[in-house]
Amino acid sequence: MKLLKEHISHSGRVIGNDILKVDSFLNHQMDIGLFQEIGQEFKRRFSENKITKILTIEASGIGIACITAQYFDNVKVVFAKKNSARNLNSEVYESQVFSFTKDAHYNIRVDKNYLSPVDNVLIIDDFLANGNAVLGLLDITKQAKSQVAGVGIVIEKSFQTGRDLILKQNVRLESLAKIESLAGGIISFID
Ligand code: 5GP
Repeated sequence: MKLLKEHISHSGRVIGNDILKVDSFLNHQMDIGLFQEIGQEFKRRFSENKITKILTIEASGIGIACITAQYFDNVKVVFAKKNSARNLNSEVYESQVFSFTKDAHYNIRVDKNYLSPVDNVLIIDDFLANGNAVLGLLDITKQAKSQVAGVGIVIEKSFQTGRDLILKQNVRLESLAKIESLAGGIISFID
């Protein structure tokens, strides 16, 4: 997606050899015009699928998922919660995730009322690195016996393991920008 790649090239900052910081338009300040283009692109790519729910993970996935949902018919957004809260129903689907950026494990939870076997789910997230967040969300859809139409990622770091792990599960993966390398602080795209 050309517009997204322009934003990444212009405003992305590389940390070390494998972290891309895009706080000015995606992860802190949010560029809603760009989010709308992203949402429309996800809709184009999944237009054949009758999606009933968009599933994401807090926090950065939520904004993208909400804007994307506006381009689908009557689709609700469910986000997996990272912290156990007293007001969360005790009937939850739960999975453990290893955080690439925080270097620690955490649990994600989704109330059983919000995912079921009648759902056809589109999983959305901001980044794909080693795939742990998406694998945790896929695990939750398995527990709920929901169908999965696919995974939509804004920025895939294709040099990490996430892509292969998702494809190995026979799940469709659509990434809007694919990064081949961040080595030496230089952002290079696959296509
Ligand atoms: P994974 O679970 O695929 O290893 O990592 C994906 C999650 O980690 C994303 O939800 C995202 O929040 C975070 N993440 C991974 N790599 C990056 C990165 O290079 N930049 C930013 N901003 N977040 C990342």
